[in-house]
Amino acid sequence: MRLILLGPPGAGKGTQSARLMQKFGIPQLSTGDMLRAAVAAQTPVGLKAKAIMDAGGLVSDDIVVGIVAERIQQPDASRGFILDGFPRTVNQAQALDAMLAEKHMELDAVIELKVDEAALLDRIVQRAKDTIAAGKDVRADDNPDAFKTRLDAYRSLTAPVSAYYAETGRLKEIDGMAPIDSVTQALDKLLAQKVQA
Ligand code: AMP
Repeated sequence: MRLILLGPPGAGKGTQSARLMQKFGIPQLSTGDMLRAAVAAQTPVGLKAKAIMDAGGLVSDDIVVGIVAERIQQPDASRGFILDGFPRTVNQAQALDAMLAEKHMELDAVIELKVDEAALLDRIVQRAKDTIAAGKDVRADDNPDAFKTRLDAYRSLTAPVSAYYAETGRLKEIDGMAPIDSVTQALDKLLAQKVQA
């Protein structure tokens, strides 16, 4: 099962990916998590990406595509994966299509979590509070200023990715404003059809 979850920051991609990972036994490949790990390890990629990420901008397509190309070749991704936070530009989506075609692989589903933008800032503020309550460090970009930049990047660069998949009949949409468990049920239903297909 090879899946892409699309949606703006705060849509619930991370939460739902974690559940799908358990259900299907496939890894959640979050480019944001991979980049944060590179920043923490101060690798050359991390050093380049840190300021951009802190400000809420997008890291270059070359860097992100390189990370994903390497990651999907790891043995744990051989049975499939859930891409969370990638592709975020049409360029990345095209690079992914080329990468998969080369390996004779196809995407099983591209699912967008549709959310009301007005609710997103509240969700991000809540995520920061939950993180503090769990005794963990809050993400440097989970603050209103960086969030605004992230949302702008989403609107101008990532929203066209949905159109890219819709044009080729590959996009499915789910109501991401529903309670977390209902979103999970809607995903399960949609993917059950895929498994049977
Ligand atoms: P996320 O955890 O998905 O919200 O990503 C956190 C940050 O990592 C984003 O705001 C970007 O700066 C960077 N990032 C993650 N994925 C990508 C991507 N596919 N393309 C460009 N930048 C990315």
